[in-house]
Amino acid sequence: MRVLVLNSGSSSIKFQLYRMPEEVVEVRGMVERIGEPDASLRVRAEGVDERLKRLVPDHAAGLHHVLEALARLGVPLDTLGAVGHRVVHGGEDFAHTVLIDEAVEAAVERNSALAPLHNPPNLLGIRVAREVLPGVPQVAVFDTAFHQTMPEAAWRYALPEALYTEHGVRRYGFHGTSHRYVTERAAAMLGLAVDQVNLITCHLGNGASVAAVRGGRSVDTTMGLTPLEGLVMGTRSGDLDPAIPLFLQSTLGMSAAQVDKLLNKESGLLGLSGLSNDARAVEEAAAAGHERARLALEVQAYRLRKVIGAYTAVLGQVHAVVFTAGIGENSDVARAMAMEGLQPMGYWLDEAKNAGLRGREADIAHLDSLSRILVIPTDEELVIARDTYELAAG
Ligand code: AMP
Repeated sequence: MRVLVLNSGSSSIKFQLYRMPEEVVEVRGMVERIGEPDASLRVRAEGVDERLKRLVPDHAAGLHHVLEALARLGVPLDTLGAVGHRVVHGGEDFAHTVLIDEAVEAAVERNSALAPLHNPPNLLGIRVAREVLPGVPQVAVFDTAFHQTMPEAAWRYALPEALYTEHGVRRYGFHGTSHRYVTERAAAMLGLAVDQVNLITCHLGNGASVAAVRGGRSVDTTMGLTPLEGLVMGTRSGDLDPAIPLFLQSTLGMSAAQVDKLLNKESGLLGLSGLSNDARAVEEAAAAGHERARLALEVQAYRLRKVIGAYTAVLGQVHAVVFTAGIGENSDVARAMAMEGLQPMGYWLDEAKNAGLRGREADIAHLDSLSRILVIPTDEELVIARDTYELAAG
């Protein structure tokens, strides 16, 4: 069976075509700048790498171009057994992957209030796929689902009750598909059953979050109601004094939209360094003596180190700290800075094993370290393909 994995954004559709259960990616690509004059389609397959200018007025046209490209590459559409959709916010409605029906669509729509930038395009992708591929099962995999196992003490904000009961204001967490993938891989690497493993999983990309995992289940995570809470990210501030947005509005006269833009798009590594949101560029500048770039990396690492300490307290016993996503998989500098000084806590990074390690699974802890320190490249699309195949194949 073939499974098409779709990640529909506001102006893009990323796709991967898997042959399942072999878990082989046959085609991958992206429709970009939907609705703009310079829209394009990128398609990659064995021996194929093309970028084509296309007229893409809307998501329906985008998906048509994807299916046309697959047909051109010799993939008969009647071998398409299911479509798996990445959906950002499942609220409290979804703790697992589900087959999409009208009730699921309605719940995704309801949760759009919590993720106004993400859920509407995700839902659009679902509706377009249902129309273009009638009769093909559609599956939704939620970024929030893995964290639905958090205990109430971890997901509550200390706010008046009605904000939660009437408006759903609570901590949800994101990157769940990635935290789940590395949890399963880490258990395999450690030779433990998934339900026996305690981990601190660090998803460090342009967006970043850490999860505390007890017995294979998320018991805390750094992102909250939205993906703005927690760590210092590429352009997001992460945690700050909640009075700061009030100060920006009442004292500096900024509008809510300006505050939103400042905290989500102009802060983090970019705001601190004044240079870039890209960790690699900031690392290069810091190495060349750029003072603000060095400080940006230090603030980022310090905040991550504090979370690792806090989650060690949450879990008691930790089998491994796991690094994943762009920075976690590739940056020996970020890993070394985060783990610095944690030896008394049981985390002893082996500098030689860490140095230069990029994009592959490895244990970079010293042999005498109490806990392991693992690097695991994440694969969210594979999780979506597996879940989709399982549900579609019954
Ligand atoms: P992601 O959002 O997971 O794609 O991660 C993107 C981030 O990973 C960007 O900040 C990149 O600069 C960072 N990254 C990728 N490769 C490296 C590398 N070799 N060294 C440092 N950062 C990297």
